[in-house]
Amino acid sequence: MLLTLDEIFNEFADLDRQDQPLYLLELGDELPELPDSARTAENRVHGCQSQVWLTTDIQGAGESAIFTIAADSDSNIVRGLIAILAAAYNGKTAREILEYDIDAVFHRLNLQQHITPQRRNGLRGMVDRVLTLARMHLVACNGVDSQDSGRDTDRNRVGSHVTRPGAAKIEQARAEDPFPLNPDAIRQQFPVLCRVLPSGSRPIFLDSGASAQKPQCVIDKEREVEEQYYANAHRGTYQFGLRIDEGFEGARSKIAGFLNAPSADTIIFTPGTTIGLNMIAAGWGRRHLQPGDEILTTVMEHHANFVPWQQLARQCGATLKLIPLTPDGRLDMEQLDFVLTRRTRLLAVTGMSNMLGTINPIRELVRRARGVGACVVVDGAQSVPHLPTDVLADDMDFLVFSGHKLYGPTGIGVLYGKPERLEEMDPVIFGGHMISEVHIENSSWSAAPAKFEAGTMPIVQAIGLGTAIDWVQQTGLSRIHKHEQDLTTLAMERLKTVPGITIYGPGVADRGGIISFRIDGIHPEDLAAILDQKDVFARHGHHCTMPLHDWLGVSATTRISFAAYNTADDVRALMDAIQFAFERLAKR
Ligand code: PLP
Repeated sequence: MLLTLDEIFNEFADLDRQDQPLYLLELGDELPELPDSARTAENRVHGCQSQVWLTTDIQGAGESAIFTIAADSDSNIVRGLIAILAAAYNGKTAREILEYDIDAVFHRLNLQQHITPQRRNGLRGMVDRVLTLARMHLVACNGVDSQDSGRDTDRNRVGSHVTRPGAAKIEQARAEDPFPLNPDAIRQQFPVLCRVLPSGSRPIFLDSGASAQKPQCVIDKEREVEEQYYANAHRGTYQFGLRIDEGFEGARSKIAGFLNAPSADTIIFTPGTTIGLNMIAAGWGRRHLQPGDEILTTVMEHHANFVPWQQLARQCGATLKLIPLTPDGRLDMEQLDFVLTRRTRLLAVTGMSNMLGTINPIRELVRRARGVGACVVVDGAQSVPHLPTDVLADDMDFLVFSGHKLYGPTGIGVLYGKPERLEEMDPVIFGGHMISEVHIENSSWSAAPAKFEAGTMPIVQAIGLGTAIDWVQQTGLSRIHKHEQDLTTLAMERLKTVPGITIYGPGVADRGGIISFRIDGIHPEDLAAILDQKDVFARHGHHCTMPLHDWLGVSATTRISFAAYNTADDVRALMDAIQFAFERLAKR
């Protein structure tokens, strides 16, 4: 029988201070076990250091239905935390759960002091899961299937809303989310967006596709590490060394959870997307490609996912082929069978185009590539920060992304690889930590991830990325995506009214929050400079997609890109600034 919250408070208050941390272990002992049938990938709570499964039993119907939490973990301390959550939430309705001040409970039990930062993140992940289930229940009360919606939140994938059964219902559920993202509140968490510029205005930042701003919690985390316990990782077993290892490996586990990767060992830290892609080209590609083989990619790729394959093809005597695009900038899937052949050894494709905004159907591409035995590399630089990613469900071989586009630090990125792909990939950087044994004549390698992490890693940045992922998960990636789609719809509608404008790429249903355009008579560079005068920061140029610009027949475009902190006011400011550009140029 689980204790009530009052019983927990009383028992806790009776303990000496030094015994209080052990109380969680005692609570964990009392928690009933979750049956194996409930320990599913779907019930996994991401962001926890240990394995956690959480589900709810809902008795009754409608808004008055009562929730009971059923959860378990392989860690007894976490089981103790679950017992507290269950005591706090069990017997409540969805609305009561959403309104309940769980932080007050944690405060009264001094949890901030008694559990490590990683455990705190995991606890937040569990709370978020309960809140999400409660929200989904409320959405379901409005006539939408709650299971469908729940799955969508956790597992929805690039472009899949077009083809997946129940998609209309999910769209409806999203539209009816009773707790949509509040971008004004989010903006407050980003110090750089709150600063006042010399003009007296605040910056309108529309260049998150290049690099996103960082929330205060990420800045604080990096500072905390530097000031409180910095040391090299995987080196010392003194207090700082252990703490830094916990932070560094904790970040790896969070990333694995975030991507639904099979294990933390499949997550390799890299300096960023570009290096990750080059590592795959050099480490996997050179070992597996031969003359006559084909590499398939697309003309919409960023140079980082184009040039390495072009060079690999030259080095190995392979042929580089392209999947044709439709006139509106989507992959022409009807043409795929003509270019994907038995000779295709590797398919490299972006999850989301950084110029057109096109969201590519990764799951379908992987399925088709499997038919010819090709290995699939996904450039997730733009998709991972904006769309829920599930490497298992999509069956990707490799995925890469950069921390700095995901509200995290620069200098840190991730290469995910299926265990068997990492096994058959050679390291390309050699040195300390990545070795198993070194002899005068020869050396052997550690298993992944160490095999690919020679030398000192960007440790503080990796920990900062873990915090950025916590932030994204707490904010809700599906909600961020929905918010960005709303802004994109608004911006497209407004931009279409501008005389002489050409907007590149598909309609909103197939694109993320990126819009590239040209206005007749105004060079993109001039436009960006005039927007800057109005404190609207947009990018101009070829955006590292020269082959795509050639295909479009233009040398440069202006690009705006959205993130969680952008608002409808930002779109209005953009439109005012474009109007100002017309007025300025009319005076020439
Ligand atoms: N791929 C895409 C789609 C991108 O948008 C970018 C950066 O803009 C990259 C790769 C390269 O990322 P990084 O410069 O972080 O290595």
